[in-house]
Amino acid sequence: MSTIIDGKALSLSLKEQMKGRIADLEKQYGRKPCLAVIIVGDNPASRSYVRGKIKAAEFTGMDSRLIELPEYVKEFELLDVIAGLNADKAVDGILVQLPLPHHIDEDVVIDSIAKEKDVDGFHPMNVANLWLGRKCIVPCTPKGIIAMIESTGVEIKGKKAVVIGRSNIVGKPVAKLLLDRNATVTIAHSRTQDLAKVASEADILVAAVGRPKMVTADMIKPGAVVIDVGINRIMVPGPDGTEVSKLVGDVDFDAASEVAGYITPVPGGVGPMTITMLMENTIECFLNRQ
Ligand code: NDP
Repeated sequence: MSTIIDGKALSLSLKEQMKGRIADLEKQYGRKPCLAVIIVGDNPASRSYVRGKIKAAEFTGMDSRLIELPEYVKEFELLDVIAGLNADKAVDGILVQLPLPHHIDEDVVIDSIAKEKDVDGFHPMNVANLWLGRKCIVPCTPKGIIAMIESTGVEIKGKKAVVIGRSNIVGKPVAKLLLDRNATVTIAHSRTQDLAKVASEADILVAAVGRPKMVTADMIKPGAVVIDVGINRIMVPGPDGTEVSKLVGDVDFDAASEVAGYITPVPGGVGPMTITMLMENTIECFLNRQ
């Protein structure tokens, strides 16, 4: 039976520590770190993520601003809002919740955020600096994944790590962070042949795919550290016979936890750590700007 890596508890203890740090920063610099979050439209999932981010900011005691724009906002109007936040000395971090409506070019929007305030670490300069091994803002989900692996006490150095998924926001950056910590890293994707064999050789397995329970127990090396990034909503039979919606990861948790050494749950794993790392990145941007 594996040990559960409790992302919720780890997040809570990190956010508790941040409360004290933020109070100290306010004494030292005369103001608190401030995170600005922009949401465009009414996508329910995006609204829920944004609520979580603002709630976390309030918990830590940092300042936050929520800028809500209508679905039909023009690209230049959004860019104007970002330009205002870039120039605002009281704002340290700017996050534009993705995805954006189709008429807005996400790349143009990401490029327009001042790289010193790019708390998501998505700006091309931050991405380039990550791959060059230079100082940068590390994207929140990959940063949280590393913190969770490190929380187990399992050494990353020399281990075989397999990352399933090669997106710019999770798969690729987490692979780079594992490489930086001297793991031998394989990135698997939809065209990988014999994924089960590749995955089953991993001492550290990160699943960032978006396919419910696709990582089955036979794909896991006994004792491996398994990080489940996936957030998938599925319908399951409810208590009264009707179907209810349930959140599951990319890993078949019940079966996998019989084999893995350590495993993250969904919900309560990578999700809360992503938000907590956003708070850390906001503090880092604040300090960089002093
Ligand atoms: P993307 O859709 O951008 O990438 C998915 C990746 O999975 C792609 O590289 C794709 O391969 C690969 N893939 C798809 N099908 C298979 C398959 N059958 N076998 C192997 N690989 C496959 O997703 P994201 O990286 O943005 O997100 C992944 C999941 O993580 C989602 O469920 C998302 O909701 C969740 N997520 C959770 C976060 C959190 O905070 N907990 C944060 C961000 C994401 P290819 O490149 O070949 O198409």
